Amino acid sequence: MHVENHFINRSGWLRAAVLGANDGILSTTSLAIGVAAASVSREPILLASVAGLVAGALSMAAGEYVSVSSQSDIETADLKREKKALENLPEEELEELTDIYIQRGLNKELARQVAVELTAHDALGTHSRDELGINEITQANPLMAAFASAISFTIGGLLPLLVAIFAPIKQMVFYQYGFSIVFLAFSGFLAAQAGGSKIFTAVLRICIWGTFAMVMSALVGYIFGVQTS
Ligand SMILES: [Zn+2]
Repeated sequence: MHVENHFINRSGWLRAAVLGANDGILSTTSLAIGVAAASVSREPILLASVAGLVAGALSMAAGEYVSVSSQSDIETADLKREKKALENLPEEELEELTDIYIQRGLNKELARQVAVELTAHDALGTHSRDELGINEITQANPLMAAFASAISFTIGGLLPLLVAIFAPIKQMVFYQYGFSIVFLAFSGFLAAQAGGSKIFTAVLRICIWGTFAMVMSALVGYIFGVQTS
């Protein structure tokens, strides 16, 4: 028996959670590093981390809510239109479906036969899948999606906040960088393993981009720190 393991469908929520946590780690750490590079005391670093964490979690939630609900509005409207067309213009819709299968490589008779049988089986499901590209009619809940991304961002952002509270102030920049790279590498590892993709590539990619973001923030902090002191 030939069994293939496909990950593309089942890793959706995990991917979203890991991306949210990565965002939380990277953006909060970058803020903490930028302020730490310009500051000799702990309070501004803590303040920046907390503010960044709250603002980031809220903006993730708002962005996710808007994106999921507008996607779902579009899908609902498309399905409604399609349902109406199937009721009012069944012959045209059958024609349309036949053409889609011809374009995908079937000959005319077979395409017609497939279209007729699938229309009898589940007309709306077939049109939404093969014409509109909507695979699952059960859509994501915008509130759930917003909540999930805010939570995962917060979990990620708590890590640099803890570092900002407990790490020695003189080496704050290095502690922030070191911990966040370890966290990012770990979450890259988890995501790659859950998604069945190459672990080394995933970890390397997130470490390189994370380093880039944090070095840029540190540079900005140093430049402002030098100018204002
Ligand atoms: Zn159609």
